[in-house]
Amino acid sequence: MVQDRISRLIQQKEFSLEELCFLIALEGADRDFFLRETGKHYIQTLGKKVYFRGLVEFSNYCTKDCYYCGIRKSNSQAERYDIDDEQIVEAARFAHQHNYGSLVLQSGERHDTQFAKRITQLLRKIKEATNGELGITISLGEQSEDTYREWFNAGAHRYLLRIESSNKELYYKIHPEDENHNFELRLNCIQTLQKVGYQTGTGVMIGLPFQSIEDLARDLLFFKELNIDMVGMGPFIEHSNTPLYQYKNQLWPLQRRFDVALNMIATLRLLMPDINIAAATALQAIDPMGREKALRYGANIIMPNITPTLHRKDYTLYENKPCTDEGADDCSNCMNVRVCMNVRVEMAGREIGLNEWGDSNHFFNRQHTKQ
Ligand code: SAH
Repeated sequence: MVQDRISRLIQQKEFSLEELCFLIALEGADRDFFLRETGKHYIQTLGKKVYFRGLVEFSNYCTKDCYYCGIRKSNSQAERYDIDDEQIVEAARFAHQHNYGSLVLQSGERHDTQFAKRITQLLRKIKEATNGELGITISLGEQSEDTYREWFNAGAHRYLLRIESSNKELYYKIHPEDENHNFELRLNCIQTLQKVGYQTGTGVMIGLPFQSIEDLARDLLFFKELNIDMVGMGPFIEHSNTPLYQYKNQLWPLQRRFDVALNMIATLRLLMPDINIAAATALQAIDPMGREKALRYGANIIMPNITPTLHRKDYTLYENKPCTDEGADDCSNCMNVRVCMNVRVEMAGREIGLNEWGDSNHFFNRQHTKQ
């Protein structure tokens, strides 16, 4: 029976490509069974803790032209912004005061030295303003080894750089093929981040045009192969001002993209039990309870958006992004932020790790096994 097979798989530590495809593609009652049992297994073996990262999307200026992304350079409709350092530090203080433990700084991709220097200063200011107590993850794209090192020394200790798809052919269907969008370069950057000493994260989008279940299974094997410490992955959501929008009729329905994304999270949890997995914001763009569901079935990181609301609507990577409309709660101004987040985490049957950095256990485990 299918469910017997699922029960056996949940106890396994190694998985074949075929087994991964089987789990990722599950539907209906068998899928419900898989998610429920994986969630139970995961919480029993790894505990209930969920960690917060206050997310600040501080600028949408971008030098890249990714075919899926709403803030791509060529989208002249995007209203560009860049939040002052003072305001970013203020958001960091907010996160610290609300016991978040960590901050994520994300922006469009820039490679100029002015930007690199600014980030170095900013990291120092944040560390200073929070007594060195706030953990910092950054997600600022491809950079030179020197820049990665400089930022690491200034206080960032985790880095997220999504490979977007580990299938090189698919990568070039969703990016221009030029010197500014190079698969090998991006891969090298991930390895450089590991070398420099960051807890290193990557991830993919799920439900891209031309993407198959097998591609997704291979993405999971890619994370394992690269010995990655953290993963952020979520459904692809088409944006009308981007080139990939033309394929909107060929995509999986939104609900299917969402379902497969949750299957991916649960399957990855079985494959890499000790890594950090984020409940991606894009999940919530499809289902109001999307992130809670991810926490229930394998994710252990949630990133409340604390970008000042004034600019939040402009960091529109995809449409229907949650909490971007004008009336929406600005988490950093919202009296309900703690209640909201507590309720969300508790609804998922989990507990919040307050004031903890919530580092990836995998990172420390791989340091031990290196010797
Ligand atoms: N500049 C940084 C951060 C990029 S934005 C970097 O290059 O790493 C963060 C992530 O949003 C991207 O890595 C991508 O995976 C995701 N994203 C962009 N457009 C999207 C879309 N249309 N649907 C879903 N996710 C998207």
